[in-house]
Amino acid sequence: MEKKESIFVICAHSDDQILGPGGTLAKYAKEGKEIFTIIFSYGETSHLWLKKRVSVEIRVKEAQAADEVIGGSGVVFFGIKEGKFFEEVENKDLKDRIKKLLDEKKPSRIFTHVPDDVHEDHRAVYKIVNEILDEINYKGDLLGFEVWNAVDLKKRHLPKVYIDISDTFKIKLKALHCFKSQIFAMLPPYLGVYIKAFMNGLKNDCKYAEKFYKIK
Ligand SMILES: [Zn+2]
Repeated sequence: MEKKESIFVICAHSDDQILGPGGTLAKYAKEGKEIFTIIFSYGETSHLWLKKRVSVEIRVKEAQAADEVIGGSGVVFFGIKEGKFFEEVENKDLKDRIKKLLDEKKPSRIFTHVPDDVHEDHRAVYKIVNEILDEINYKGDLLGFEVWNAVDLKKRHLPKVYIDISDTFKIKLKALHCFKSQIFAMLPPYLGVYIKAFMNGLKNDCKYAEKFYKIK
């Protein structure tokens, strides 16, 4: 049997992969692609809207539940302490672990954070991913997603890619509900996801879309 096409998402916190490319990942899963998620931290302090002191076990379970909702093929947590990501950039073991996963699955497309994200952990993940892909001379696509940048920053020179998620936007929302212990105690992120998908849809002539920046 032919090997299934695989897609990777590499992100900082347990909810970034859904908040950013969740609808697109669900769409690819529906198309029969395998979706693999690598999450750097357990998200102890992470985002402003997350409740603190939610146990690691709950965060892992929620991310796995969200992965099932989008039809993903598994989540790997590296358990790096937040705020220490930049120190981990030179961590050879970490790089080797990622390289090994990339070599096993050979993804055609990788999603990660944008280079100028407002969150320093997001920028650190971008930097590590970008360095690794240069080192292995990766030939696939690298697409950057925003989690909660209110404004477009320096990355305007990067080409934008819109992906129609009209058929999977509901799945994205359902996946976001898996994080109920953390996020949706607060309304704004949820509302923000809705507004962003709607605005991106307008720019892409469809109901809902996700926007990415083509890094490679
Ligand atoms: Zn994050």
